[in-house]
Amino acid sequence: MNTILQPNPIQLSAVALDKTYRKGPEEVNVLKGVNMDVRKGEFLSIIGRSGSGKSTLLHLLGLLDSPDIGEIRLEGKRIDHLPARTRDQLRNRVFGFVFQFYHLLPELNVLENVLSPLMIRHSTWEYWKRRRELQDLAREMIAQVGLEHRIRHRPSQMSGGELQRAAIARSLVAEPEILLADEPTGNLDVDTGKGIIELLSRLNSERQLTIMMVTHDEAIAQRAQRIVRLNKGQIENIRERAAS
Ligand code: ADP
Ligand code: MG
Repeated sequence: MNTILQPNPIQLSAVALDKTYRKGPEEVNVLKGVNMDVRKGEFLSIIGRSGSGKSTLLHLLGLLDSPDIGEIRLEGKRIDHLPARTRDQLRNRVFGFVFQFYHLLPELNVLENVLSPLMIRHSTWEYWKRRRELQDLAREMIAQVGLEHRIRHRPSQMSGGELQRAAIARSLVAEPEILLADEPTGNLDVDTGKGIIELLSRLNSERQLTIMMVTHDEAIAQRAQRIVRLNKGQIENIRERAAS
């Protein structure tokens, strides 16, 4: 048998990204020509010391900020230079975000937090018309992350691991193609962190969800298929994809 496995197509690219922050007279040149390709369905870890620019890179990739020089390309098409409104729409449709400190709304319960992106996406009228279907979708995502028993709980009544699961459900309900996770286990104990990584791995393999995860924890990074390091403003390949 002689089967040639074709790698998945390249989905997202960083091309010669340069980013400098200016604070008064001070300049910090954080990214100095970052090149990176991510394939559809890949689970990639980005490691690097604190302050090496990991969050900056993730923000540029997800259109939360713009590079000074260079391009972000989605399926080969440049997206970073589009008008703000188009970028907003693209960001909401293509990217899901997960952060270290969850960013759940404290006055809403889990179901309401998970529904919030759908309320923002649809007009009030459309939301009310479709609310049963949308609530079912939110419930399904909550079940996927194992939080059925916490559906009416508020953030203050939940553990760190549960809060991160709720945040992941909220990012998934908008059906993103690419999940950008910035230190998703950074605030969790080791075992709880492992549970979150297992959840991300499962979503990656079951849904072909592309995941880019920033972490400073090398043990956590090992769970991804590929690891790159951000060092001195550039990308170093640490471990290529395991042959499959
Ligand atoms: P990491 O996520 O790897 O810890 P960051 O991307 O957050 O690194 O930050 C990289 C560098 O850029 C740091 O020196 C940080 O202080 C600086 N920086 C990040 N964001 C800003 C900003 N909005 N304004 C000025 N400096 C910033
Ligand atoms: Mg950071």
